[in-house]
Amino acid sequence: MNTLLQQLTEAVGVSGDEKEVRLLIRDLIQEHVDSWHVDPMGNLIAHKKGTGASPLKVLVDAHMDEIGLILIEADSYGTFRFEGVGGLDDRVLLGKVVQVGPKKLPGVIGARPVHLLKGGQYTKVVERDSMRIDIGASSKDNALGKAKPGERATFLSTYEEWGDVAVGKAFDDRAGCAILIELLRGERFPFDFYASFTVQEELGLRGAITASAAIQPDVAIALDCTPAYDLPNKNDESPNVRLGAGPALYVMDSGTIQDPRLVRHFLKTAEAHDIPVQIRRPGAGGTNAGSLQRAAGGTAVLSVSVPGRYLHSPHTMINLQDFAHTRQLVDTALRELVWKINA
Ligand SMILES: [Zn+2]
Repeated sequence: MNTLLQQLTEAVGVSGDEKEVRLLIRDLIQEHVDSWHVDPMGNLIAHKKGTGASPLKVLVDAHMDEIGLILIEADSYGTFRFEGVGGLDDRVLLGKVVQVGPKKLPGVIGARPVHLLKGGQYTKVVERDSMRIDIGASSKDNALGKAKPGERATFLSTYEEWGDVAVGKAFDDRAGCAILIELLRGERFPFDFYASFTVQEELGLRGAITASAAIQPDVAIALDCTPAYDLPNKNDESPNVRLGAGPALYVMDSGTIQDPRLVRHFLKTAEAHDIPVQIRRPGAGGTNAGSLQRAAGGTAVLSVSVPGRYLHSPHTMINLQDFAHTRQLVDTALRELVWKINA
């Protein structure tokens, strides 16, 4: 059992409320870095000095936050109305068990029971306005005594390994956080290495803006978990990325064109070291690379992701070999990075 992934995915850190994850990561890295601090937005930024062989400043980023729910108000029945935090699909919410607020109170997302549905209601998506989080409170006052508007909720699911795959919540992006922690625990790099564990990615790549602006890196790598749609589909389209086919390199997404020199270098490194790698099909979506590229006056960026099925649901699935290969590729490629600024 990969206990690092277990700890990280079972920790709770809905966007804007990442403290539990930040404290966990701080404890896991502090003996392996030269310094660390938390910036005013809540990003955890660590510095590991280089050997002096390279003048570069390299930043590797992974976001700490996960999508979730935020309580809006309690109704007279003692249940809570809620809104989504980050990109949520209403269809995955009904009937799910959640953990609410700092006390992690269990609750269930409920709506009208199937027995009382009529006609066309069966085929309609229930919108979140019609759902409630039920923590078993007997009245509005009772509910507000237990949890308050503004508190977050996230899915309650445990980490499991089923053979080659691991299943749990929040691999997006605790898989990236785990890789970044392992990089910090390794040997010194030739260059000054900065790690940013950032906040609020799911709300628009926000934390990475201040992290990158403060560090002013020459090169930045965004580690993330990218959605894999690699199951049979009607149009017989090839998958955007596949589980088990290695780390996914971005070339272009809706927010960023990745630095072509970095794309080439990572592809060459993969080939030279026999590490499987795949190009994520260019198109929609995006990662913190968008902020990292532009917040500090221009930085060469690359997104490298662990493919994951069923992102932003209670049960994301990754392949553990992909996870290991992503770490290996980033580690090896960075150690072999010979980079001329502005070349
Ligand atoms: Zn992500």
